[in-house]
Amino acid sequence: MAGLYISRAVDSVIESRRVSAMSWSVAGKIIAVDPGHGGIDPGSKGNTGVEEEEITLAVSEKLKDTLTGAGAIVVMTRESDMDLSDPNGSRLITRKRQDLSRRLELAEKNGADLYLSVHVNCFKSGPGEHGAQVFYQPGSEEGKQLAESMQAEMARVLGNTTRKAKAVDYYTTRNSKMPAAIVEVGFISNPKEEKQMLDSEYQRKLAYAMYCGVVKYFAGSATATNNPVDRDGALETFMENEGQVLDAP
Ligand SMILES: [Zn+2]
Repeated sequence: MAGLYISRAVDSVIESRRVSAMSWSVAGKIIAVDPGHGGIDPGSKGNTGVEEEEITLAVSEKLKDTLTGAGAIVVMTRESDMDLSDPNGSRLITRKRQDLSRRLELAEKNGADLYLSVHVNCFKSGPGEHGAQVFYQPGSEEGKQLAESMQAEMARVLGNTTRKAKAVDYYTTRNSKMPAAIVEVGFISNPKEEKQMLDSEYQRKLAYAMYCGVVKYFAGSATATNNPVDRDGALETFMENEGQVLDAP
């Protein structure tokens, strides 16, 4: 057992060095980091009372630090509890759409190469559901490569998710002109994961896992074969959501 443990630890150190050696791939890249929700829409809420928007902001700030440290230029869509819609009394759905499209515009205006939207998942009727999962737009080859690379690194670094990258037709990924991914970093409906996501060390680990995925995506070494996409599930979801305005959960 000890031997196996040590061998895994060594593998992990070797892999981290590999990522370090590849970090040139993000230098000079412009990356939009979107902390999901905020302002009019706090997102889902956990048992502790924490709101999704707080966790997504904390993780996104750490992702920004990690990417910036490697020489990337990061455009944040928000840096406090706010949204980008006009406060003019429109219906919530109108303001929500305006917020989402303005976040994308901000990224485009700044010439972003990539759009990463950070979210927290919620499945109230199943508190056992857990694990980070990355989503991309059906039909986007770049989005798929990005999502698979990030999913593989989240599985490797966190060691607690067996989920697969999945194609879902969300408003953000559908309307993004740059390769985009929605990263659900964990389930707020799972008490254990909610607690982890509130821990700043774990938040740093999440940010590092996402960073590794981005580095490998740009370095062109996404390990797609280790992480096959759930094709049937993807098609089904796409059919269900076609034409709808759907924000990430
Ligand atoms: Zn969300």
